[in-house]
Amino acid sequence: MVNIVLIGKQGSGKGTQAKLLANKFNLKHINTGAFFRKHIADKTPLGIIAEKHIRKGELVPDKYVFQLIEESIEPHIKGLVFDGFPRTYEQAIYIVKRYEIDQIIFLDLPVEIARERITSRVECHLCGKTYSLLTAPPIKDGICDNCGSVVGSRADDKPEAIDKRLSEFVEKTNILIDFFDKDGIVTTINANDVVDNVNEKVSKIVGDLI
Ligand code: AMP
Repeated sequence: MVNIVLIGKQGSGKGTQAKLLANKFNLKHINTGAFFRKHIADKTPLGIIAEKHIRKGELVPDKYVFQLIEESIEPHIKGLVFDGFPRTYEQAIYIVKRYEIDQIIFLDLPVEIARERITSRVECHLCGKTYSLLTAPPIKDGICDNCGSVVGSRADDKPEAIDKRLSEFVEKTNILIDFFDKDGIVTTINANDVVDNVNEKVSKIVGDLI
């Protein structure tokens, strides 16, 4: 059992890396942003509340995040990759009380590059596959290569929400690096690199733990 947390600004590639790690090491991918988007699509009570915050680029209040985590996580034999959780000090306290965290991987990215990457990001509204209009666009404009559905910007990838989300990261999430660093379990990786190079480094870290 190995539990990994990926922390990084929006656009740092944590979703991509988490997915690759989950597939490679047979871990369960816990992506709170995607879980909220599913609730929003299904118009659940939690989705209706979350959408108001997500659209504005705000974090969803902790109590709803804990509700989401509790209903989404089942014990997984091999371990978990947390992607997008924790994002606040209270969430960090919550996670260490319930899970033994083996490694925090901090995907470090300058804020200007993060903004550039998010601005060019589009996502399939059905299967969630993400594309970069700059470096890896869909083969057919606006159509998902994977499932043929419509590809477009996420509601929170609009310019007003992007600045808010990046400042939320600096204000609330950055401090988690110091919080976990006390236990000596943080490794910082330069995320300003191509997916394969970042993946090689994160896979080595996780592979050494398994
Ligand atoms: P992401 O896909 O990880 O960028 O998440 C999209 C949005 O979902 C974020 O901008 C937040 O509004 C919300 N969200 C996801 N995870 C959390 C979390 N752990 N705490 C609070 N809000 C979250």
